[in-house]
Amino acid sequence: MGSKLRRFRILVVDDSELQRTLYKKRVLFPDEKGEFLFEIYEADTGKAAKELIEKLHPDLVILDFNLPDIKGTDIIKWMENNGFNDIQTILVSSIDNSDLATTGLNLGAEDFVKIPYDPEELRARVKAHLRLKRIIDYNRETRERYKKLSQIDGLTELFNRRYLFHKLNDLFKKYRRHGKHLSILILDIDHFKLVNDTYGHQVGDIVLKKIAEILKKETRKFDIVGRYGGEEFLIVAPGISKDKALKLAERIRKRVKDEEFEADGKKFRVSVSIGISELIDDNPRDVNDLVKIADMRLYKAKLSGKDCVVTN
Ligand code: GH3
Ligand code: MG
Ligand code: MG
Repeated sequence: MGSKLRRFRILVVDDSELQRTLYKKRVLFPDEKGEFLFEIYEADTGKAAKELIEKLHPDLVILDFNLPDIKGTDIIKWMENNGFNDIQTILVSSIDNSDLATTGLNLGAEDFVKIPYDPEELRARVKAHLRLKRIIDYNRETRERYKKLSQIDGLTELFNRRYLFHKLNDLFKKYRRHGKHLSILILDIDHFKLVNDTYGHQVGDIVLKKIAEILKKETRKFDIVGRYGGEEFLIVAPGISKDKALKLAERIRKRVKDEEFEADGKKFRVSVSIGISELIDDNPRDVNDLVKIADMRLYKAKLSGKDCVVTN
């Protein structure tokens, strides 16, 4: 589960310097077995604690309830509401009050420890919470990785069809509501079957990857570029009128033709045909209609000899 020797950031919040020193010396001393590496930070007020939490996003906080400016429980509340609820929090208090433990835990703290504490036990608790933190982080990273994978086409590393349509739906609604331009371009490689038949499928894959690269390079960061089907691509260009979309399409068409491929000692080039539709100009009924119009124009481009762009 990831690297075992991970550096854990621990924030000790206490207004007493002596207490902070005791935590460092008797609880958070270096781990001999080397399972944990502690990186220790200190804060003497609630305000300083919040600033450090925002700056460092520590893994664990040992939090004194009785701070001069903010109550420990209010800091826990603040952490829960500001995206820091993955931080393991141990609330510490010298007040012998079980209500405080209940309140702190209910607000989101992971643990409550009463002063005077047994340093060995607190150290064991810290380690137990850090083991949990490791699992929490691992689960989050795995979730994020799979989410990303579920949106990406494995061969070209562009967005896949599902994600493409998900984004297009969102953008369509938003741009229609605001009366703004939104262009889409559908590209299809010309005679691609011939590339496969002549040079083999693997060379065909190289061509697909190279064209995907060109499309990424020629578009802006916030354009959505995806693999629409086998050798078809779709670009969603928010805020782009049809005139501008035509310019983009022509640039891509020429750039693709400039690319020289080589296989079996032979050089070859490919071309693309492109159909364009636009939200204001074509006034489609819905998002499917917008795609259908671009698709029809792509078909027109094929009929009129390929290697060209059609906008109406
Ligand atoms: P046109 O000029 O009319 O577009 O003809 P075309 O040959 O490009 O189109 P057609 O639809 O006849 O063939 C598309 C080919 O794309 C057939 C299919 O094997 C190939 N293809 C689809 N996906 C992949 C892929 O992931 N890798 C490779 N190498 N080929 C693919
Ligand atoms: Mg095709
Ligand atoms: Mg084709």
